[in-house]
Amino acid sequence: MRRMDTIEWGGVQVTRIGLFENAPLTPAHFFPGTDPAQWQADRSWLAPEHWDPHADRVRIAVQAWLLRSAGRTVLVDTGLATDSARTGVPAGGPPLLDALAAAGVAAEDVDTVVCTHLHADHVGGNTVLAPCGERVPAFPRARYLFSRADLEFFDPRTLTEQPGRSAVVYAESVEPVLRAGQADVWEGGHVVDENLRLEPAPGHTPGHALLSLASGGERALFVGDVLHSPAQVRTPEVSSCFCHDPAAAARTRARVLHRAADEKALLVPAHFCGTGAVEVTRRGAHVFLGRWAAFG
Ligand SMILES: [Zn+2]
Repeated sequence: MRRMDTIEWGGVQVTRIGLFENAPLTPAHFFPGTDPAQWQADRSWLAPEHWDPHADRVRIAVQAWLLRSAGRTVLVDTGLATDSARTGVPAGGPPLLDALAAAGVAAEDVDTVVCTHLHADHVGGNTVLAPCGERVPAFPRARYLFSRADLEFFDPRTLTEQPGRSAVVYAESVEPVLRAGQADVWEGGHVVDENLRLEPAPGHTPGHALLSLASGGERALFVGDVLHSPAQVRTPEVSSCFCHDPAAAARTRARVLHRAADEKALLVPAHFCGTGAVEVTRRGAHVFLGRWAAFG
C-alpha cells in the first residue's frame, strides 16, 4: 500500500495533520468494563499500532484533518494547546500552525474550523497568544463552528469542574473566538458546504458532532471521539472513561458504525493511530473492520 498524506474523495482533498502519539492508559482504565482477554484475543490486529501489549497501554494519536472542499479550506479539530503558561491547560505536541505550514497551509488560508466537541485536545489550537498578551483566534479569517449544546455544557458560568470540563480551557480556547465574533453556533445540524454537513452525535459530550462528507459518490464520516480505538468497532457498547454519558455514547457509537457500514463511508475518528481511518462492514448488529485507508 502506498501511503499518502492527502487522499481525494470525490471532489474533496483530505489531509491528515498528525501531531503526536501517546499511550497514557491501560485498556481497563481507558475503557471501563472492557474485557482484557478480548484485547489479547484481538492482539494480531490491535498490536502494536493501537495497543502496546508489553506495557499494556492503549495507543492514541492526536491529530487534525484538513479538508479542501468547494474552494474552501476546512480544519477539523485543532489538537492540544502548545503555548499556554496557565495551570490546568493540558498541553502537548508540536504547534498546529507549524504542522499546517509543513502541509503548505497558512493560518490565513483556513476558512472554517470545525470543533467536533470542546474537550481540551480538540480546541487547543483554536487560539494563539498575541504580542499584547491576549489570546486571539489562530485563524484570523475563519468561522469557527461550535454546537450550542457543547457551548452551554462547557460554559464556566454553569460549569462544575470535573474531568474534561475546565473553565481555563474554555477561557483560553473558546472565549477569545466568541469575543472576536468569529463563532457560528449551530444546533440540530449545519450545512458547511455542498460536500460537508455537521450532525449531532451526543454522548461523549452533549454537543458532540460528526462531520459527514459526501462527494462524487464517495463518503466519509469524521466522527471525533465517537470511538477512540478500533477495539470499539467489535465492542461498541464499551465507552471510554472520558465519555460524559457512557450509555448515550454507546448508543451513538452503534448507530454511527451501522451507518458507516450501510453507506460504505470511511470512518475517520479523531484518535486512531495506524493509518487513521478505516472502512467497516456489518452482518446484522455485528460490525467488522474492513480496509484501512492509505494515510501515512
Ligand atoms: Zn479527544
